[in-house]
Amino acid sequence: MHRLHSARRTLSSGSNLLLRRWAMPTSIKYFTFEVTRRCNGRCIYCNIWKDTEHENELTVDDLTARLLPYRQHFREVVSIAITGGEPFLRDDLPVICARLKFLSPKARFGLVTNGLCPDKVVETMKKIREIDAACGIGVSIDGFYPEDQQLRGSNVHYELAWTTVRRLLENRFNVSVGSTLTRINIGRALEFKSFCEERVNVKWMFQIVGESVHYYDNLKRIDGISLTSKDLEMLEKVCQATAEQVFPHYLVKYMKEKKQIIPCFSGFTGFFLNSRGTVYPCIHLNSPLGNIKEEQFGDVWMGEKARAIRKDIVRKACHCFTPCEVCSWGEANFLPLLKIRLKKRLGG
Ligand code: SF4
Ligand code: SF4
Repeated sequence: MHRLHSARRTLSSGSNLLLRRWAMPTSIKYFTFEVTRRCNGRCIYCNIWKDTEHENELTVDDLTARLLPYRQHFREVVSIAITGGEPFLRDDLPVICARLKFLSPKARFGLVTNGLCPDKVVETMKKIREIDAACGIGVSIDGFYPEDQQLRGSNVHYELAWTTVRRLLENRFNVSVGSTLTRINIGRALEFKSFCEERVNVKWMFQIVGESVHYYDNLKRIDGISLTSKDLEMLEKVCQATAEQVFPHYLVKYMKEKKQIIPCFSGFTGFFLNSRGTVYPCIHLNSPLGNIKEEQFGDVWMGEKARAIRKDIVRKACHCFTPCEVCSWGEANFLPLLKIRLKKRLGG
């Protein structure tokens, strides 16, 4: 059965790679929705919280009116990532999730929170669990108190975020702790991983700090804290220790080569929808496909602009390495995953 599934995925990977070569979208498997840019956090590597214009955020009615007519594009979606800002600042978050679940019945929700409002997060998650029993949530904590305090720009974040984690665990949610790795916290990353997994019994995940003009609005502002070649040895250890996750496998190779090392499917299999309705291939590439408030989603997704952007992605004009990107190729192209599995089996 497992072999049959692998064979099917390998076949579909072949057709997806062909479609990609012609800059044609494959069926949408996932998307990320920034429900708001409002944020009560003050992270030093992100300027979303400085954004003060929130009037144009997509409403529940906008989502229904702009996406539902294109339901056929969303039927095969397996994963919807809800991000912000701080998503839980939107009181209508459960209603948003209900509408999106109607749009994509097979989708599982993955939410993130900075953990600053434990009660609100837990109560909202209880409502979201009624819509999707398998929903998961990641609470952002950037290491032990001194590192977290420095990176998150808050004296109270560490304590509150752990309260959120504990309360989610008590309520039996699928919860993980996520850290953004920088020069400041990578030195104790493995110690923090052990603390999460052995002391608290919660899964630890990570990403590396990254730059984005249209999302984090942090261009050139992370120069002092981004990982450099000096951090690669430590990063390699972190990747080895998290080898059960797919994301770390090619990360060090990427950091050395700084190019698209696996064919990226962002903009083909998935997209990023910002809170004002603009569709991008991902959170990094500052190339809008269009805006669903101004145009029909079908025209945005299938239009000439999208095709030109896809051509750029195919010719590797951009590169990055984030868990979201890995999610995109993993869904569309099974072959790198197969390689990882074979390597593991052969003990390589
Ligand atoms: S990283 Fe998240 S929690 Fe921190 S300021 Fe940005 S949006 Fe807010
Ligand atoms: S390589 Fe990175 S920046 Fe380029 S489209 Fe893919 S996810 Fe976006």
